This record gives sequence, C-alpha cells and structure tokens, in this order.
Amino acid sequence: ASLAAAPIRALRAYDPGHDLVALRRQHAPLPLVELGSNENSYGPSPAVVAALQSALPELYRYPDPLGGDLKRALGRLHGVEPRQIVLGNGSHELLMQAAQVFAGPGDEVLMSQYGFAVYAIAAMAVGATVVQGASLPAEGPMPLGHDLGAIATRISPATRLVYLCNPNNPTGTWFRPAALEAFLGHLPQHAVLVVDEAYAEYADDAGYASALPLLPSHPRMLVMRTFSKAYGLAGIRVGYAVGHPELVGMFERVRESFNVSLPSLVAAEAALGDQPHVAAVRQRNATERDWLAGELRARGFPTADSQTNFLLTRFGPDCAAIEADLLRQRVVLRPMAGYGLPEYLRITIGRRDENRALLAALDGKEAC
Ligand code: PMP
Repeated sequence: ASLAAAPIRALRAYDPGHDLVALRRQHAPLPLVELGSNENSYGPSPAVVAALQSALPELYRYPDPLGGDLKRALGRLHGVEPRQIVLGNGSHELLMQAAQVFAGPGDEVLMSQYGFAVYAIAAMAVGATVVQGASLPAEGPMPLGHDLGAIATRISPATRLVYLCNPNNPTGTWFRPAALEAFLGHLPQHAVLVVDEAYAEYADDAGYASALPLLPSHPRMLVMRTFSKAYGLAGIRVGYAVGHPELVGMFERVRESFNVSLPSLVAAEAALGDQPHVAAVRQRNATERDWLAGELRARGFPTADSQTNFLLTRFGPDCAAIEADLLRQRVVLRPMAGYGLPEYLRITIGRRDENRALLAALDGKEAC
C-alpha cells in the first residue's frame, strides 16, 4: 500500500531528460552544448546582474508578499491593473495552481495532445480527469499543433479547466486569434481557459497574436507568461498570470505568502525595464531559427516552422541512436519519447557557435 494520496500514486516525478550536472562533470573542462531546455542562449539583460548585486544586502528580509512593484511594472507593460496579475515561482507553479483552484476529483481538465506535459500532471495531482483533443496531423502546415476545433468537441458538462499553449511546447506551432475566438465561443460558463504564452515574446508571425487583448471581453480566461524564456531568467523562477481580478484573487488564496523570492522580484523588474534587450533576443533568435531550420532540412531532417526559441525535428527510426551519438559529442537535445514522439528531438535555438556545433556533430564531426 502506498502512503501517497490516490491521485499522486499515478504520477511520475519530473523527467528533465538528462542529469546535466553529471554530464557537465563527465565532460569537464570541455563545455556541453546545452540545447535541451529551451533556455535563452543569449542570457538576461546586464541590468539584471546590477540589480541583483544591489539587492544582496537586503536578503535577510522577506520579499514583498504582494510583489507590488513588479505587478505595477507588468500592469504598465500590458495595459492591465496590478490586481489582474498573480506572480508565481515560475509559471509552472501557476499552471499547477490553476488545477488546484479550478478542478478536483470528478472534474475534467481539457488540453491538446502534444501540449506541454505539465498540464496533465497538474490535473492528475488534484484527482481530475485528463481529456485530450486530437492534435493536427504530423504532415501539414502546423504539424502536431493544436486543433482547437477538435479540442472544443471534447468539452463536456464536467469540463472545469482548459489549457492551451500558444505558441506550443514541444511542437513550436501556433494558432490564429480567430481560432481562439471561435474556441472561446464554445467555452461553457463552468470552465476556465488558461492560455500559456511562455514563448509569446519570440513570436513574430503575422498570424500570431497574444490572447491578452481579449481579456476584457473574456473574464474566464487567464494568460500565463514567464521570465524564463525571452527574459533569460530560467534560473531565478518568476512567472505570472493575467486575468479578471476575481480569478486572480482565487490564486492569491492558495499561493504561498512568499512564493516569489526577493532576488526574483528584483531581477524580473530589472529585466522588464530593458525591453531593447528582449527585442534584440527576439531578433537574434528569429535569425538563428530560420538558419538552423534550413540547415536541418537541407540534411534531410523534417523541421516544422516555429514561433518559439526551439525546433521540433524528425530524425526517424534511428532517433535514439542519433541522440546518444550527439550526447557522446557533448550536444544535449531533448528526447520526445515521453511525449509519444520517439522519432523526434526538440532543439533549443542556441547562439550561432552552439548551432554550428550541433550541425557538426550531426555531420559526424566532433563538436568544437
Ligand atoms: N509553459 C511552457 C509551455 C513551458 O515550456 C515552460 C517551461 N519549459 C513553462 C510553462 C514553465 O516555465 P517556468 O516555470 O520556467 O516559468
């Protein structure tokens, strides 16, 4: 018999793909080419480092439990009120809390096949039932992307929460504002929609738009963002959700009083203040994304268009052997077998030297 509560028994612990600390040690002093975790290869704004240094003498104090300064800065950026924002220890925490707040045993939590893995874990952790809408086919303009029409057909009287990811991890695909508006038309009174926009700052396609401008007319929608990606702060753990003050207030009831640390608040505020850095990151990432996708396709590896800082590439039946070979050459990508996509690897867009090292390793040369 297990001591774990029933919903927890079915869960497995987070699988990071590889033990990076062990791998770094194994290959030291040579550096790994780390393209497995969708981090920002260009790093955070220099303003973050300066702000963190000046905050160090304050570390004996608790952080502001309201996160007021950061919420006001975010409110100015997005044109919303601070009480429409809840802060999290990464957006991962808020994704988990969404299930805690809105769903429980007997309820259904709806998502797309090939959506971000955390959604199912969040639903299962609260004893809710996971329901998946079929994804788009592997061939076509948005391979394995969200099919909002198919997801809408799975709405039932038990649906309490829907997670959509735009652009989506791990496919890199995105959906259009018209598709989202149509979906919102199907959203029943008894359900809340979370649109996870962790990669929104990277999107530059004319067919992509954030859901944020739709918030005033859709009080049962929450939009989630993170400082881990375009802001380059994955290590410091800050995310946020934006929505109607009533929904946001429900998160404020369950979150830990000091869930965002003092350095995290300071770093996020400094990062937010340097929008030219974010613009430069977006530009560099877009250039590298186009170039790397082209190089992979030229080598015969189908690679979908992406609006994120990563690519989903099909390596075929030899995928696991290719991945193992890349690892031997110190290049770390993310296997997709856990997503039911054993022939695919997810590749974070790196700096040009990192992307070149990946391609050299694929070509059978030792990575530099
Ligand atoms: N949403 C998506 C789609 C992600 O890919 C990630 C991180 N990989 C997160 C949320 C969580 O990010 P964080 O907790 O670092 O904010």
